[in-house]
Amino acid sequence: MRTIEQVTAMQAWGREVRGRDHARVALVPTMGALHDGHLSLVEIARHHADRVVASVFVNPAQFDRTDDFERYPRDLERDGALLAAAGVDVLFAPPTVEMYPPDAQTFVTVEDLSQPLCGAHRPGHFRGVATVVLKLLNIVQPNVAVFGEKDYQQLALIRRMARDLHLEVDIVGAPIVREVDGLAMSSRNRHLSAAERAAAICLSRALGAAEQLMAGGERDAATIAAAAASELGRERLARPEYVAVVDPDTLQPLTTVFERALLALAVWIGSTRLIDNRVLAAPASGRERRSA
Ligand code: AMP
Repeated sequence: MRTIEQVTAMQAWGREVRGRDHARVALVPTMGALHDGHLSLVEIARHHADRVVASVFVNPAQFDRTDDFERYPRDLERDGALLAAAGVDVLFAPPTVEMYPPDAQTFVTVEDLSQPLCGAHRPGHFRGVATVVLKLLNIVQPNVAVFGEKDYQQLALIRRMARDLHLEVDIVGAPIVREVDGLAMSSRNRHLSAAERAAAICLSRALGAAEQLMAGGERDAATIAAAAASELGRERLARPEYVAVVDPDTLQPLTTVFERALLALAVWIGSTRLIDNRVLAAPASGRERRSA
């Protein structure tokens, strides 16, 4: 595996493999502190392309809190070893000044999809995400880029950006990878104390409670959200930021769930903010019962 830090060197590599080898290239953007969730994206990328580039860049533009940026876990040596073992061809790990020269003044905003859910609580976050992802796509020019459904809103707005800006890239979504007890893997899980780690399973429990309610025929979005919130309420260390039942495509609030809904959660456990989500599907029999 080759490690590249400079934008021009990354661009030259891309030109060469596309021109000389006619290779299909996949990109997996990350912020490092890798776990099995990231590695599952690499695995998917390998199925879609001849060469895989993984980027590790802790993007300052997407952090709404300096303390979060400063304490974000960084471990490039370990990340490099994991990516090499996973069959990645290039680790792109640019310093900040390469991605954001001091005089940079162009940013990208995906208007409506940036507003709800995390966007309402993290000002500027999705502007930073869209900007860095567009930069990475322009630098690497991959045929495919893989993103996790763990960050559902991010995936939705990247798909929208690719469509709106006529990017020649397939955006592929990857399922959420979880610890055995259900906690969605996240680099921020490293911040949790033992007690907080135990408390953090309340997020997946809340998703499960809502899913069960829907399986039982419930279609009222407020009732479904309340079931999830009440599960979170049983955990003393949890402070929910939002619990939302929204349309999986537009991310706008639903009052009634007809076929599918996204249940999305953001919850503070101590000083760590965790997110999780699940697409809830009304069982076909329930739909029939309802319309009968
Ligand atoms: P991050 O390093 O947190 O910015 O994440 C980089 C990519 O990995 C994003 O596309 C995330 O959605 C994805 N990702 C992070 N955690 C998981 C997970 N538990 N399962 C699947 N994908 C994930």
